[in-house]
Amino acid sequence: MDYQGLLERVCHETEAFRGKGKVADYIPALGRVDPGRFGIALATVDGSLYTTGDVDKPFSIQSISKVFTLALALKQEGDQVWKRVGKEPSGHPFNSLAQLEVEQGVPRNPFINGGALVITDILLDHLPRPLEEILGFIRELAGSDSIISDEEVALSEEEKGDRNAALAHFMKSFGNIRHGVDDVLKLYFSHCAITMDCISLARAFLFLADGGRHPVTGEQVLTSSLTKRLNSLMMTSGLYNESGEFAYRVGLPSKSGVGGGIVSILPGHFSLALWGPELNACGNSLRGIEALDLFTTYSGLSVF
Ligand code: GLU
Repeated sequence: MDYQGLLERVCHETEAFRGKGKVADYIPALGRVDPGRFGIALATVDGSLYTTGDVDKPFSIQSISKVFTLALALKQEGDQVWKRVGKEPSGHPFNSLAQLEVEQGVPRNPFINGGALVITDILLDHLPRPLEEILGFIRELAGSDSIISDEEVALSEEEKGDRNAALAHFMKSFGNIRHGVDDVLKLYFSHCAITMDCISLARAFLFLADGGRHPVTGEQVLTSSLTKRLNSLMMTSGLYNESGEFAYRVGLPSKSGVGGGIVSILPGHFSLALWGPELNACGNSLRGIEALDLFTTYSGLSVF
């Protein structure tokens, strides 16, 4: 497969989508990013790397961090996690409060904000220095020491964090948040504020393309069974309330973030990370989705 030619082609053919989306500005620090950035990095399980565009510019990974925190929680608690978080697509925006009342404080899945807050609460039980350990986990997977949590972004989100605070308090009233709400929110904002470039992200997700074993470090990060489960959740819930449309168009387990990143996995083959900060109405990278649609359409490579 000519991955390099394919990446360049989809990058070129999606240029017309520049200016069609809107950078997230409900977190003010994210609103300052250059909207025209775009890059794609593809890392294969046999060690090759293909890139095009802005692949070495760190950006805010936001909800993509929820895959790392879920992986850590699954390592700690395995299937126990599902007593407190569901596995169903929500069909609602990522920060919606609507379902939580009806569903007794148990969020639909670990990738909407409510679910990710519960996962963060679980990590507070197990990790004595949680942010350092989350960062250490990601740095090792990515093979890069330079990955940080951007304090300015975390503080900016905290300042405008009323909705996440509401979610956390509401779940606490059902007993599904066990630590202090402020501690949970602080860690949640800090892991969402982690910045990485496309190359590091593609490398860090490679274990999900190789049955849970990181092909570079050789470490079995997750069992193959938990890896299957995590990829399945990305397939059904990784793109908020656009997960069905995205599965229809792209057909790869993927996770997006409001920083404009999307990471996609083709088990047995590759991990692909892209960044395009202009978002569509669901909070997903507008050009990124167009590029992934073309990528799987031209290559015929998807899980289907
Ligand atoms: N930190 C963001 C929030 O809580 C994450 C949103 C996202 O990327 O989906 O709103």
